[in-house]
Amino acid sequence: MLKIYNTLSGKKEEFRPKKGKTVNLFVCGITPYDFAHIGHARTYIVFDMIVKYFKEKGYDVFYLQNITDIDDKIIKRAKEKKVSVWKIARDFEKEYLKDMKTLKIDSVTKYARATDHIKEIISQVERLLKKGYAYQLKDGIYYDIKKFKNYGRLSRRTIIQAEDAVSRIDEAKEKRNKGDFCLWKLSKVGEPAWPSPWGDGRPGWHIEDTAITEKYFGPQYDIHGGAQDLIFPHHEAEIAQMEAISNKSPMVRYWIHSGFLTVKGRKMAKSRGNFITIKDFLKKYSPRLLRLLIIKNHYRSPIDYNEKIILQTKRELERIDEFITKVKNQKSKVKTTTQNLKISNFQTEFEKAMEDDFNTPKAIALIFNLVNKGNSLIAQNKLSPTEAKKILNFLKKVDKVFNFILWEKPKEKIPKRVIKLVKIREDFRKKGLWKMADKIRINLKKMGYWVTDTKEGPKIKKG
Ligand SMILES: [Zn+2]
Repeated sequence: MLKIYNTLSGKKEEFRPKKGKTVNLFVCGITPYDFAHIGHARTYIVFDMIVKYFKEKGYDVFYLQNITDIDDKIIKRAKEKKVSVWKIARDFEKEYLKDMKTLKIDSVTKYARATDHIKEIISQVERLLKKGYAYQLKDGIYYDIKKFKNYGRLSRRTIIQAEDAVSRIDEAKEKRNKGDFCLWKLSKVGEPAWPSPWGDGRPGWHIEDTAITEKYFGPQYDIHGGAQDLIFPHHEAEIAQMEAISNKSPMVRYWIHSGFLTVKGRKMAKSRGNFITIKDFLKKYSPRLLRLLIIKNHYRSPIDYNEKIILQTKRELERIDEFITKVKNQKSKVKTTTQNLKISNFQTEFEKAMEDDFNTPKAIALIFNLVNKGNSLIAQNKLSPTEAKKILNFLKKVDKVFNFILWEKPKEKIPKRVIKLVKIREDFRKKGLWKMADKIRINLKKMGYWVTDTKEGPKIKKG
């Protein structure tokens, strides 16, 4: 039985989706105005892992993620760079998707851009106005938080506490309450705008999510995820919008929030300038390392990023790699029936850990326990071929969820002319023309390729 910590109740709850084995999950996506950093990577690795676990359990998951491709930050960046808003939004979206691919985050069913859902957004604003939850000022339409009686329930804040956190788009002196947020902003000259019943403008931040989720999932769905800093005001506002429109509660059954990636205890953020982009990280380290680094920590705990934990994770990855090579290559003469390592126990324990609110630190510890025990059996020549096979199968299964263990090394492309030269050299060798063969070997070396002769024939290696 899977238990998930639900931010809404503040407790671990048994997971029961709305409909059979279907899971509808929405996670807040990026605002493409700059390169994504490893704090973003944490959020998306966490939800990738969660979705993969659901799939392993036989659930049919629809994982929806939005892209906020219209926003103050994009407009500002476009002005700074003297390019169009669309150039900024599309270029950084492309870079983000490339990063996700490198990190093997491939579980998202659909990425939905805000600007592809303007019709749905306008429809939600219209319904909120009609029901009296929204009001018009001269610069746009605002949500009246005092009209929604459950405002503050998710973040456990009172209306007064809610007053402080408003962004620039939400600023308007005439607002009814300080915490009221903007649903539709009438645009200034030169800003991107869409026609609406209230004049040309653009959507506020919170409304795009509910417009998108209503379109694909309806007014109620299973899981909403995101980083912890989105609980307020963003997710609070989403509930206020959707539940006011639909009169149905709860909008979302389970709210899952991932912890921060901090640097010296402070949250990694663009605005603080203490961030490391995914691209810069990957110049020095492998994407596998980032996945392990994230997954070995519990998704709700903070991770403080520093050189020490990177090196430690690197060593852990090497230990796993060495172990797998050993298991694959060991030629034990132990009887196949010998069972010194009860691998089924590891399987059970792994599931138990994951069922407890995705306790990945426990699951990772289990893998190292297996590595230790396996290594000691190999050293004593006590690991049977059957068990070796079982170990590999177990790791394969784990990797369907974690996806950092069994990556194939990227195959080096050997140029055709190199392959041809190696063949010619082989012919010389067969004929006993050693000098000629050696000449080719030296030439290949100059080209940056090493040839080693093995029983199975020549092997080519670069570098
Ligand atoms: Zn969002």
